[in-house]
Amino acid sequence: MTRAERFAPASCPVLVVKIGSALLVDPAGHVRRDWLAGVVADIAAAHAAGQRIIVVSSGAIALGARRLGLPGGGRASLEDAQAAAATGQIALSHCWAELLGSHGLTAAQMLVTLDDLEDRRRYLNASATFARLLSLGVVPVVNENDTVATEEIRFGDNDRLAARVAQASGAGGVILLSDVDGLYTANPQRDPNAKLIEEVPVLDAATMAMADTGSASGMGSGGMVAKLQAARIAHAAGAHLAIVTGRRDHPLAAFAADGRGTIFPAAGGSGARKAWLAGRLTARGRILIDAGAAEALRNGASLLSAGATAIEGVFDRGDVVDILGPDGHAIARGLSEYDTDEARMIAGRRTGELADILGHAPRAALVHRDHMVML
Ligand code: GLU
Repeated sequence: MTRAERFAPASCPVLVVKIGSALLVDPAGHVRRDWLAGVVADIAAAHAAGQRIIVVSSGAIALGARRLGLPGGGRASLEDAQAAAATGQIALSHCWAELLGSHGLTAAQMLVTLDDLEDRRRYLNASATFARLLSLGVVPVVNENDTVATEEIRFGDNDRLAARVAQASGAGGVILLSDVDGLYTANPQRDPNAKLIEEVPVLDAATMAMADTGSASGMGSGGMVAKLQAARIAHAAGAHLAIVTGRRDHPLAAFAADGRGTIFPAAGGSGARKAWLAGRLTARGRILIDAGAAEALRNGASLLSAGATAIEGVFDRGDVVDILGPDGHAIARGLSEYDTDEARMIAGRRTGELADILGHAPRAALVHRDHMVML
């Protein structure tokens, strides 16, 4: 497999593409529409090949700042940035909807905060929304909800946001389209001997030290440090990440052709995901299941309520639960879609009965396979 094939439709069914402000918006504060049309054409081609794409688009603050005539690219104060984001986001969304629409694709806007992806219940909600949008063939266009996110709860940069989105959507790859063409051994603007690093198998302290802080363009807030932090998050979620130049036309097609950029390969999807689920959180409860459900789980299915025989512990929606087979051994671990009370009400009941029992529309599963690892 060539370097870029890790991100191709055949090996990566869901791909996150992040586009930085300096690529999307020119120094005068206008959308670089021709260039963006090329990106969208690449996305449409990948979509036609069966890949589902989530766009993480920066640019709201830069666009809004011009419209409002704010100094410092709209980043002089948090209030300015929030006003600029509110103003720019509506133009940004319009632009994406129009360009994707010209290829017959539907855009959906998702604005999220750090909290939304850290809080376990909201993480599951976001995750379910991504899954549904992708199954409908829609292209989610994501940005940080800058208008409400205060300093402490901000991502601040869309690089890490993109990696988190990959985690929440189960994406196999993240491409950060940037105004730099990858990670160099030193800052290439200052050191003529700096070399582009093509592949970073292990993200250690020495590699982190190669990154300069700050964004070269002054327009976005990413910079190389944020990109490396994003690589770390993606790695933990089992997703490949690439830093790729956006300073050429059709940058995604160009990357597919020559693989130029810095790639942080994932260690092996399910292994890393398993480590994340197994290591990050302690199980708050236990779901006992029957032999038929245990067999279904081993074949890759989600855990449905009908297969549950007992619920133990006290947990909320989004908490980690251990799933025990009929012999009492834990066979899987995952995030529960229900809290203890509701899980008890629906244990052993068929999917068709759930809406009546719960009094609201049921979730697709008790524990969804996307949020479960076999032990
Ligand atoms: N959310 C910011 C915007 O839309 C961009 C954050 C970043 O620079 O990465 O303008």
